[in-house]
Amino acid sequence: MAANYDVLIVGGGIAGLSLASALAGQCSVALVEAEQTLAYHTSSRSARQLIPSYGPAVVQELTVRTLELMAARDAELPVPVLEPRSFMLVGDEATVKAEASGHMHPITHAEALELCPALNPGSFTAAGLDTGSFACNAPVLLEDHRQRAEANGADIITGAKVHSAQRLGSGWQVGAGLEGFQSAVVVNAAGAWADELAVLSGVEKLGLQPFRRTAAIVDVERPLPPGSPMVCAADDSYYFRREGEQVLISPSETVPSGPEDARPRPGDVEALVTRLNSITSLGIRSVARAWTGLRTEAADGVPVVGFDAEAPGFYWLAGQGGYGFQTSSAIAELAAAEILGSLSGTSPVSRTATALAAARWSIRR
Ligand SMILES: Cc1cc2nc3c(=O)[nH]c(=O)nc-3n(C[C@H](O)[C@H](O)[C@H](O)COP(=O)(O)OP(=O)(O)OC[C@H]3O[C@@H](n4cnc5c(N)ncnc54)[C@H](O)[C@@H]3O)c2cc1C
Repeated sequence: MAANYDVLIVGGGIAGLSLASALAGQCSVALVEAEQTLAYHTSSRSARQLIPSYGPAVVQELTVRTLELMAARDAELPVPVLEPRSFMLVGDEATVKAEASGHMHPITHAEALELCPALNPGSFTAAGLDTGSFACNAPVLLEDHRQRAEANGADIITGAKVHSAQRLGSGWQVGAGLEGFQSAVVVNAAGAWADELAVLSGVEKLGLQPFRRTAAIVDVERPLPPGSPMVCAADDSYYFRREGEQVLISPSETVPSGPEDARPRPGDVEALVTRLNSITSLGIRSVARAWTGLRTEAADGVPVVGFDAEAPGFYWLAGQGGYGFQTSSAIAELAAAEILGSLSGTSPVSRTATALAAARWSIRR
């Protein structure tokens, strides 16, 4: 017999887990994750930085709200999720100016070098600084969402890949692993597999594209001092930041991929090590570990959040791109309100495709 829930969330990354914790206790919730462990894919592979000046306007707005929600929650946690860590953009005048927005303000060349003396003075001519940026303790955040969801009655089932989903009567019938589920709402929080999940559910896909992005932890001769900003090239060709005595680096590549368990390609990290050793005094000696994750985006780069126009009860929570952590709590807050509204019949459960697209530009708190 199929287990019955108000909401079935597919995907146990930051998107699915933050929604599960926002909904639990207000309706019956199950979350199914294909892998044996939660957050196995992109959500365990991020740079863990929350940057209010990063991304399109709607993303910046969602980030500011997420930071408010996380700061309020931090007051109750033994280990905080947030730690101040500013974000510095370096490059040429025109590129820094084009990228600087919202919380990012211009700083002088000398100020930039004072903040990060490891930078070769000749490697940039202009800089901007976002002092409202934070480091995110992602493992603590993910575990807090899991604990809150389960403490409030949500069922979280791992090793259960959704293989079938169909609309039956007023709800959904879903097969995941060896189990069957019935629910009024299915939430598509399947990350790089979001379009694939839509297709197997009989829902038209949105053309979401996963892009590879690699990062590595490297051993250095001269570690960055505590309090150093994260440094990012304004032309998006690299970033690096302190990771204790080591340094996290990324070539910031944006290479299209299918949904998969992505791995670094030979040369990706090595080329960046050579470059960073020529434009900084870090003295990178070796690569301790490297990984690749998939940042999945809609064509306009804006997260896809809302009920599908043509498939009643099918809720999209996808396309978070490089902003999945920094928008997570605000998106969960918004999604929970919409889903609870639809369960109580107080909000529209279906929109046209055009309205869905428009709504993505008009998310307001
Ligand atoms: C190198 C790198 C650096 C990044 N840095 C940052 C950063 O500093 N700040 C920031 O905010 N974001 C950052 N991001 C982006 C962020 O990590 C993502 O936006 C976020 O993790 C996406 O979360 P998700 O839950 O949507 O996807 P995922 O974590 O991939 O979760 C989706 C889950 O769905 C599951 N699933 C798929 N299909 C099925 C199915 N059929 N049945 C059951 N389960 C299924 C998958 O197994 C997966 O666990 C970075 C990403 C990368 C790669």
